[in-house]
Amino acid sequence: MKQNWDIPAAISLYNIDRWGSGYFTINDRGNIQVNPTRAPAAIDIMELIEEAKQQGLTFPMVLRFQDLLRDRVETINKAFAAAMQEANYRNEYRGVFPIKVNQLREVVEEIVDAGAPYHFGIEAGSKPELLAAMAIHRDHESLIICNGYKDKLFIENALLGRKLGKKVILVVEKIEELAEILRVSKEVGVEPMIGIRVRLAAKGAGKWATSGGENAKFGVSTAELVAASELLKKEGLPNALKLVHFHVGSQVPDIGTIKRAVREAARFYSKLHKLGHELGYLDVGGGLGVDYDGSRTAFDSSTNYSLHEYARDIVWNIMEVCDSEKVPHPAIVSESGRAIVAHHSILVVEAFGAIEKDKAPIQIEAVAEDPKQVGEVLEIQRNLTQQNRMESLHDAQQLKEQAQSMFDLGLMGLESKARIETVYWQIAKKVVDFCAGMKYVPEEVKDLEVTLSDQYVCNFSVFQSLLDHWALGQLFPVMPIHRLNEFPERQGTLVDITCDSDGKVSKFIDLQDVKDTLSLHKLKPGEHYYLGFFLMGAYQDIMGDLHNLFGRVNEAHVFLDEDEESGWYIEETIEGSAIGEVLSMTQWDKNELARQVKAQVDAAIKSDRLKPSEAMKLLANYERALKGYTYLQFNGNGTSATK
Ligand SMILES: *Cc1c(COP(=O)(O)O)cnc(C)c1O
Repeated sequence: MKQNWDIPAAISLYNIDRWGSGYFTINDRGNIQVNPTRAPAAIDIMELIEEAKQQGLTFPMVLRFQDLLRDRVETINKAFAAAMQEANYRNEYRGVFPIKVNQLREVVEEIVDAGAPYHFGIEAGSKPELLAAMAIHRDHESLIICNGYKDKLFIENALLGRKLGKKVILVVEKIEELAEILRVSKEVGVEPMIGIRVRLAAKGAGKWATSGGENAKFGVSTAELVAASELLKKEGLPNALKLVHFHVGSQVPDIGTIKRAVREAARFYSKLHKLGHELGYLDVGGGLGVDYDGSRTAFDSSTNYSLHEYARDIVWNIMEVCDSEKVPHPAIVSESGRAIVAHHSILVVEAFGAIEKDKAPIQIEAVAEDPKQVGEVLEIQRNLTQQNRMESLHDAQQLKEQAQSMFDLGLMGLESKARIETVYWQIAKKVVDFCAGMKYVPEEVKDLEVTLSDQYVCNFSVFQSLLDHWALGQLFPVMPIHRLNEFPERQGTLVDITCDSDGKVSKFIDLQDVKDTLSLHKLKPGEHYYLGFFLMGAYQDIMGDLHNLFGRVNEAHVFLDEDEESGWYIEETIEGSAIGEVLSMTQWDKNELARQVKAQVDAAIKSDRLKPSEAMKLLANYERALKGYTYLQFNGNGTSATK
């Protein structure tokens, strides 16, 4: 591979053309190139990073491509429109964006703006989300869908939206909510728009499967549905019921799940219609998956269907059920979050050190005091060949075990044991090299390869920026964003800067399976090495916790613009959390902290432990740090920034 390494080889190794979906590829300079609208307009990521650095941003940083976000919104709306036209479907698509998937104001605003021609709305699952949605929602044709459990204040605010002329639909998640909605509506004096979440028998698969099925947390049973229908009729409001909703979970890997759920929900819709409710909307929830590994399979990190297949299957199945029930076609609502926002952001981190296990290729020699095992393992090393590699490995393993037993019994010294182990690992490395590129690599050699791989230390926190990887084992495409015209000769895993041993990435996407290591370049002293985590825009961006108090990362918002020489510009930079800020979230007051340290410094001056000039400098550093970025700041790899 090393001999005929070129850009196509890099594209194939990292599989970027598959998971990149036309948005990401590698240019002939060996850098990642972003095509935010899948058109020729391209951004060289290294130029962008240079510009972001000029504007004062340091790593880790999130790059957001606003045009890419717009492209996703348009693509999804067009896919449903095309599917409906093809099927002669007699109603419209009215999608909504679930704010919980990325609550950043700039993201939600861009989506609402790009969705305006399609009357694309918003989904809110909590009071804060509803309050945000109410403020930026202007289009009276588009929907605001309220999911999640609701209290009186939630309902009152949704009804305020009704009074303003907005189509706000309150989705009943459990049956008790219906009476409360009806009661509050009377109080406020407005007719509510009500949706009802049905509990389907059809269950999802994948990591989020528990959102569906009979034991799901949300949704009403068939018996409760009938009771709800009766209550609405008794209140004289049968047509306040507007929408039937379901949600089978996120990242549904198999299209079969979606088809079954849609048919079942369409059946509920039709039967409710026949019970005397006009309805009008059928909401198929979220679940449209993203092909994170590019394998196009029903594997957890992938999907075995395309967006167009998804849209066609939904439209066609709803139509078929409604036609057979002789019920008018409903407007179709979907709540795709992941598929809209996942692609638009990249997390860029800097690898600032590598722990190489095979660093010192030293020549070991036996000394007179050594027990015979040292000579024997050296003998194995001398005679090691491609042909006898497995046998040699096993013999060396046995000697290493013997050395351990002898050491335990006090029969072998520290130096002799060290010599045996060093030679053993040299042999192991050689065996791994012998097996590299072979079609069949024995399991034990694969394990050795992981043990021998490097650890690249990266300036970020898995708990802040990659929560689903840590908590759920979700895979994301990760790769170097430059030097891709050089052969990546090392195999490594990634570790973060938190002091938690879970703060690592050691599972990587692969077409067939999951890889334990990632192909990486050797770090060059004094040079930066950057890695990109891709398809990060859904959930990760916003969900991070405050583990080790690292907090939000810096970010840059990028727009295409033909008038710019480069074809793009950074519209906005947002600084990540300052140390004082994250401390205050856990009740530490930064002024109080500074005061307490100052008191100690003053005492140290009084007792002559510190000179006043020195003391003031230390105190100034402390105060400056409180205002500074939580992550490490470097100039090159390993050298601290002076700023
Ligand atoms: C989380 C959620 C969504 C978004 O799901 P995606 O799979 O990200 O599209 C939609 N609807 C409801 C009710 C949700 O809870």
